[in-house]
Amino acid sequence: MKVNIDKKSGFCFGVLNAIKTAEEFLDKYGTLFCLGDIVHNNKEVNRLKEKGLITIDHNDLKDLYNTRVLIRAHGEPPQTYQAAKENNLEIIDASCPVVLKLQNRISVSQQKALEANGQLVIFGKEGHAEVVGLKGYTADKAIVVGNNPDDLKKIDFSRPITLYSQTTQNKEEYRLLAAKIKQMLAEHHCGKSEAPGLKVYNTICGQVSNRGPHLAGFAKQHDLVIFVSGKKSSNGKYLFEICRSHNPNTYFVSGKEELQKDWLTGVYSTGVCGATSTPMWLMEEVAEEIKTLKHGL
Ligand code: SF4
Repeated sequence: MKVNIDKKSGFCFGVLNAIKTAEEFLDKYGTLFCLGDIVHNNKEVNRLKEKGLITIDHNDLKDLYNTRVLIRAHGEPPQTYQAAKENNLEIIDASCPVVLKLQNRISVSQQKALEANGQLVIFGKEGHAEVVGLKGYTADKAIVVGNNPDDLKKIDFSRPITLYSQTTQNKEEYRLLAAKIKQMLAEHHCGKSEAPGLKVYNTICGQVSNRGPHLAGFAKQHDLVIFVSGKKSSNGKYLFEICRSHNPNTYFVSGKEELQKDWLTGVYSTGVCGATSTPMWLMEEVAEEIKTLKHGL
């Protein structure tokens, strides 16, 4: 049986950079604090924990002084930098450049929106680290809209709207949301000549959106697809659904121990792929286990 690992799966450059940065500091100092899980993959988090990486949350940060703290690829709001300064903490900033650019754009847009009596809307998951960071650059004034239709009630359709997306959102869902907002604005202003405008910015990261079409093709080429990802990864869920919609014989696993022998019956080719937060070593481990299990059939 052939087992192919998708060469384009695995860490995106933002995550890769954060992990490389952490490892450099761990090699040098033996220990490093990281604000939140460095990546949405428990196995990779545990590997780095063994090397000395200590994951903390924002409460822990308040009681931490005179040491180094890594900011992961998701980025942080300005308040975190301020809190670190007050505690004499050295920030090792591994925020992804794509996220930093978005924070910047959002900060400028929020200012413009305020001047025009407008409002800034972010399509994303409330509470997600990247969204918390982005909101921070609007002094927490941005409205977060997810997939729940009730979220639209938070928007004032009598005022102009500027729409952004969290970098890891689904492109098609973003397109539908923008169309819905446009329609609701038009309905609200029916009969009025000067309806407020809608500006939509495409800020979904190419590292996620370009993988969708690629994985669709990859999934179709195999009898069986094993998608490897941490359960907390948003792009993991999104990319897994793409694989499954193009090949119903697709299974989600977090590691080799979740593989089931009966999935391999009658299978001649298996594709192993994963999210932007899945380490290549984990996909290799899963691929090896598939070969072992198949051998035992
Ligand atoms: S998915 Fe894109 S924005 Fe997010 S960390 Fe990776 S490269 Fe950066």
